Parts: sequence; structure tokens; C-alpha cells
Amino acid sequence: MKPQLLTVARDVYAWIGSGGDSNAGAVVTPHGIIAIDAQQYPRLAHKFRAAIEAETGKPVCRLINTHCHLDHTAGNIAFADVPILAHDKTLDAMHANLGAKTGAYWTISDYATKIKMLFGQNLFDLVPQHDPAQAWFRSRIGLPDYDTITIASPTETFADHFTFHLPDDMMHLDYWGPAHCDGDIVVSLAKSKVIFLGDLLFHGRFPWLGDCDLSGLIDRLARVLTLDISIVIPGHGMPTDLAQVARFRDMLVALRSAVDSAIKSGVSEEAAVREVKLPQYADIPRYADWLPHDVRATYRYLRGR
Ligand SMILES: [Zn+2]
Repeated sequence: MKPQLLTVARDVYAWIGSGGDSNAGAVVTPHGIIAIDAQQYPRLAHKFRAAIEAETGKPVCRLINTHCHLDHTAGNIAFADVPILAHDKTLDAMHANLGAKTGAYWTISDYATKIKMLFGQNLFDLVPQHDPAQAWFRSRIGLPDYDTITIASPTETFADHFTFHLPDDMMHLDYWGPAHCDGDIVVSLAKSKVIFLGDLLFHGRFPWLGDCDLSGLIDRLARVLTLDISIVIPGHGMPTDLAQVARFRDMLVALRSAVDSAIKSGVSEEAAVREVKLPQYADIPRYADWLPHDVRATYRYLRGR
């Protein structure tokens, strides 16, 4: 399978990763293209950039990072010639977790740094380094593209809200608080009624909830449901609509309440990881692999509050 470029509205494009890999987006402005997210390694980032520049006949003038995870930022280097805009917390997380820069960029090659930047800083708390389940995570970054990753930093940051005033539309970047991670922003176009949700939404895949603020994520999705939106671009999976956002939110609510009931009835963490199931969602890909980790993360999240 190959990634595909879809036109979702006039001057608005979605770049859909193959097999549920991370998505990206593009909005055409009079100054060039604003790209949204940078793919999971530079080879894909260059493909994405070449495809949108060929399709529109315009150059990329700016990149937005929706959040810090490497599958959305490891391709930043392919956009290092333009400003890169992100939330303050995204840049903070990169500084805190990628170590010292070598020159202008971060260069990372050790497994722990890379995999925690993909799945959250608490990954080894949920799946210890010597747990057999780590094999899946090692294979996840097994391609030579991941051996040594050179990452370009955001060059511009904001705290709450940023607006691009386009001739025929308004492009809003909003931070509503911790959700899928700490610095998630959503990008919406008021007139085109398109929203890029980053990893607030996984469509067609059971989500990884390792380092999320579950109640924050549920609240942010409820807020998305109040918007006048026709087309929703998830962080992973095909474009969809608000009905799918509601279904995803309901699934998270079901998970939270199942784990909450287990805690309240005195079930241990290990027993909850074994016993909590969401059979109505069992047909979603990665359900069997990720539910146990998500139950553990949710158990700790709810106990920690
Ligand atoms: Zn993510």
C-alpha cells in the first residue's frame, strides 16, 4: 500500500498514511502551502512534500506540528527551510526528551529515546524494557529509516490560539488542554468545515492511550462535537465525520467506566488488565494488542487522580 493524497475541500488536502500510518494535511494560501504534520521519517516527508507541491504548483511556506510524537515530527527535517509552528508544550517536550542538540538539530539513535517519543515517556512503566511485549515496539521502528533520526525543531510556538486569516477562510489552531498527549492542537477551517484532529482521533484502529489524559481527551472530543464541521481528518486512518468522533468518544467513555468499576470493586491492576474487555469494540484492528496496555494506563490514571 502507498500513502494517498486526497482533496477534501477547495485548497484543502489530506495525505493519508498507508495502513493506518500517520496522516498529514495541506492548506493552500496566497503565500504557499501550510503543511500540517511531517510524517514518521524523512523519506515519507519528502514524498508528502513533493506530492502536495506537484498537485498545487505552489511551494510549502510553513509547517505545523499537531503534537510531539515522532510519527508526526520525525519528518520535520524535510521542512527545515520554512518556519515550523507548534504549541509551546510540544517544543518543551522535545527539549525535555530528545536530549542535547547536535548543531541545529536533534540526532537520536538510541531505542529508548525513539520509542518513548513515539508512544509516550511512560512506555517502559507500562511495558518494561525486558517484557516480551517490547518485541512489537522494537519491530515498529525496525526500518533503516529509523536507525538515526535527525529532527528539526519547531521555530515558532504559541500558547492557546493561533489564526491564519486566509482570503476566503479562517484557519484556527486551538489548544484545549492535555488530551492524547500534553500539547495537542487541532486545526480547523471555519468556512471549509474541515478539522485536522491530530491524534485526538484514531479511525479504524484501536487507540494507544499510554500517555494520554483520558478525561481530557474525552472532554476535547466533546468540544469537537459542538463545532460546525463536515470533514474530520484523524491522526491515523481515513477521513471521516463527527458521527465517528462521537463513536470514538463513546468507546473511551466505556473504557473509563469499565476500569473505574473494576477499581471501585477492589479488582487489582493485574486482574483488571486480564479481565476488562470491551466486546462491542473487539472488531477494531489492534483491539487485542492494545486494550491490555490501555487498561493498565487507565487504571493508573484513575488511581492517580
Ligand atoms: Zn501521537
